[in-house]
Amino acid sequence: MEMLFRSTRGYGKRVRSSPAILSGIAPDGGLYVPVSMPSLDRSLDELACLDYRSLSHYIISKFFTDLGPDTLRECIDDAYDTKYDDSSIVPVVKKDRVYFMELFHGPTLAFKDMALTMLPHLLKAAAAKTRNRKEIVILTATSGDTGKAALEGFAGVEGTRIIVFYPAGGVSSIQERQMTTQSGDNTYVIAIRGNFDDAQKGVKAIFTDKGFAAGLDRKGYIFSSANSINIGRLIPQIVYYVYAYLKISQGSGSGEKINIAVPTGNFGNILAAYYSKKMGLPVDRLICASNINNVLYEFINTGVYDRNRKFIITSSPAMDILVSSNLERLLFDLAGEDPEVINMLVRDLSEKGRFVIDKKMREGLKDFYGGFATEDETSAGIKGVYDKYGYLIDTHTAVGYSVYQKYVGDTGDDRPALIAATASPFKFPRSVAGAIDGKYLSEDELGLLDVLSEISGLEIPHPLAGIAGRRIIHKRTCSIDKMKAVVSEILGL
Ligand SMILES: *Cc1c(COP(=O)(O)O)cnc(C)c1O
Repeated sequence: MEMLFRSTRGYGKRVRSSPAILSGIAPDGGLYVPVSMPSLDRSLDELACLDYRSLSHYIISKFFTDLGPDTLRECIDDAYDTKYDDSSIVPVVKKDRVYFMELFHGPTLAFKDMALTMLPHLLKAAAAKTRNRKEIVILTATSGDTGKAALEGFAGVEGTRIIVFYPAGGVSSIQERQMTTQSGDNTYVIAIRGNFDDAQKGVKAIFTDKGFAAGLDRKGYIFSSANSINIGRLIPQIVYYVYAYLKISQGSGSGEKINIAVPTGNFGNILAAYYSKKMGLPVDRLICASNINNVLYEFINTGVYDRNRKFIITSSPAMDILVSSNLERLLFDLAGEDPEVINMLVRDLSEKGRFVIDKKMREGLKDFYGGFATEDETSAGIKGVYDKYGYLIDTHTAVGYSVYQKYVGDTGDDRPALIAATASPFKFPRSVAGAIDGKYLSEDELGLLDVLSEISGLEIPHPLAGIAGRRIIHKRTCSIDKMKAVVSEILGL
């Protein structure tokens, strides 16, 4: 059966997966959603026999029908290969009732790799399918991890260029170093003097500028997005929830429900968990964990989404976000798929910086539990897990773990839980080592990689080995209002 996609903001035409992936965002500014949710139509026992690649093919082919099964198989094989340092792709580590789903074994050591090692291949396939001959320009705002994962995915991919904006001072030194040392003639990295929301807003403004798009078109370019609003990123993320569930439930009698805790920023990862539940995966609560930029915590608990507040830089920078783009897809569901409601909420958010959902929509939120962790709680989470299990988690995962503990305290519900471990602890050496022993907080971040290796008994992950000595290739900085000018200059418009 062919799957079609429609925009959250309009009654406009339904499109196949190729154009949806290629454009990233719908022409009306909305996000593409599948018109219906396919279900897991094979038994869990049967699915448990599949390896990661085969399970990916089973799930993704239900959504990206027009790419065809063979092309999709190639995209998957190209994505999940020896770039991952663990042959299972997503190892699941059990600690008592908690299972850490390690999503950080890809080339940039964060969960973004799970989708971004595949997206370039999906985009090329989509371009071929729609007979697009233009050069694809990927424009991306990053809070640290997306940028590097996208650069790594697209570097050297023919027919593409990638431009990444990141907030100066808003990412860890390792993250910054990973991006500024990126090789590849088709890669561009720019620091902006602003925060992630500024970067995201700037990129959105460039995307929706019709005049700019016309100029691009004349020059033979087409924009696409590697941000998590692209449906080509969202769908591959469903796979690991199913995969981890199958690993957990093996032998314990299938069908038992689990809880899932996800450290959340742009709401992409947890939305994929929600989609897995809609597909029929036995999941009870979705625990949405925020850091002190806790807009989502407030929203889930009050129905009021309010971005009028101070933006705080934390030790979990990938979650320092006040406007969670992917929430729009959940809102669309909660509103009974009524685009009028979405348009109203989006207008309120843009004009007043806040919106309120009605009682009926709030009822739909009961699948979710919203919590947040302070900086101290995040450190305590790292130390607590290390002291108890000798297992090292990163700051983002620690936010997920802390909020999960609050959830158990609040509800007494201690059924088996999956925690999305979204980054390697080696990506955030100062915060992680500092949580174990305060004396490290004043030390140089790059130098602490060795310390972490000693503490954890693990080798420094291959992608970070020798990073301190790599040549810095990208040195450009610009103000928020110059982002469009920079893109023009790069593309020679
Ligand atoms: C991006 C990111 C998150 C947040 O994921 P969203 O899909 O934006 O909610 C959490 N942790 C890490 C390490 C990330 O890179």
